[in-house]
Amino acid sequence: MVFIPGTRPPTPAENGRRKEHPITPHTFRSTMTTYFSYPAPELQAELRRIANAIVAPGKGILAADESTGTMGKRLANIGLENTEENRRKYRQLLFTSEKELGNYISGVILFHETLYQKTDDGRPFVDLIKQLGIIPGIKVDKGVVPLMGSEGESTTQGLDDLSQRCAQYKKDGCDFAKWRCVLKIGKNTPSYQGMLENANVLARYASICQMNGLVPIVEPEVLMDGSHDLERAQKVTEAVLSFTYKALVDHHVFLEGTLLKPNMVLAGQECPTKYTPQQAATATVLALSRTVPAAVPGICFLSGGQSEEEATVHLDAINKCTAGRKPWALTFSYGRALQASALKAWSGKDVKAGQAELLKRAKANGAAAVGKYAAGTVAGAAGDEGLFVKNHQY
Ligand code: 13P
Repeated sequence: MVFIPGTRPPTPAENGRRKEHPITPHTFRSTMTTYFSYPAPELQAELRRIANAIVAPGKGILAADESTGTMGKRLANIGLENTEENRRKYRQLLFTSEKELGNYISGVILFHETLYQKTDDGRPFVDLIKQLGIIPGIKVDKGVVPLMGSEGESTTQGLDDLSQRCAQYKKDGCDFAKWRCVLKIGKNTPSYQGMLENANVLARYASICQMNGLVPIVEPEVLMDGSHDLERAQKVTEAVLSFTYKALVDHHVFLEGTLLKPNMVLAGQECPTKYTPQQAATATVLALSRTVPAAVPGICFLSGGQSEEEATVHLDAINKCTAGRKPWALTFSYGRALQASALKAWSGKDVKAGQAELLKRAKANGAAAVGKYAAGTVAGAAGDEGLFVKNHQY
């Protein structure tokens, strides 16, 4: 008997049928995507456990995985130099927060450097995070690169040594990972090439994570850059997500052990029409209900350049919205919209003030994640500053 590597041998029942319908190597090749094996039951249980814990009611993710360059911009805003020591001091502030932070934050995404850093008195950050009852996660992509022949589109690199890195991160205490892909709305974008490539690279990443016991956060971010209206943002988000789930299913990714990190559906930053939070929430819920399988346990939005208050109000409106079915938890995985006030209040000096701001914002978002935030009730040190950065790199 000849079998194609990577396919399974026929079952006894199939062998029995061979006389009438012989299963030839050609049969295997042409039907390959329906021959599969999902992770072993223990691994499925582990992935499910982690994903469900991250989207427990009233909790979300702190995205503190700014790359060294991006962290430099954040530090520059408060007049600090981008040194390893300053980055460590800032992250130490986050992870030495009061235990209460763990009531609203279930997971934190780290950058490689941060995973191996320690407090002034030598305690590993990863241990402190776990003591707060928070699950450590890790950014594993290596940034965006241009797609040749496209209108300024990109893909995301980092697959080559990903399996080894995931295995090591799991040993070092991480239980989930993040990989960000970026799609831009333009006259002719996102293109078929852009959506296909980004969906496929996300699916490859997700399958590699799962093989190593990490829950993949799948992040196809449609940027807020541009003057497009809400309808266009909705249609593009629907197209991007449908490409993404086609690829995830093609790659046999175990959906119950994944989380989605999408953009909210919002009009472009330069759109002349202004929409209410309820309109944005309706567009977001409809787009998601049309494209994200009910098997996915949770959707953790990025903030994408919204102000802290906008991001909280929108999340709350999404959770209150009744325009479509919502079979998943809907929560936050914010970077800028959770840290702007904390950074400003800290400014390299006042750790307690920074921690107080972080806790306040985390609590507000925890309430929004269950549709119980009253707009305007939590003011931060950063005020309602827009956090939009053109063509944002993470
Ligand atoms: P923002 O919330 O600042 O958009 O970042 C979240 C994130 O992790 C992007 O990858």
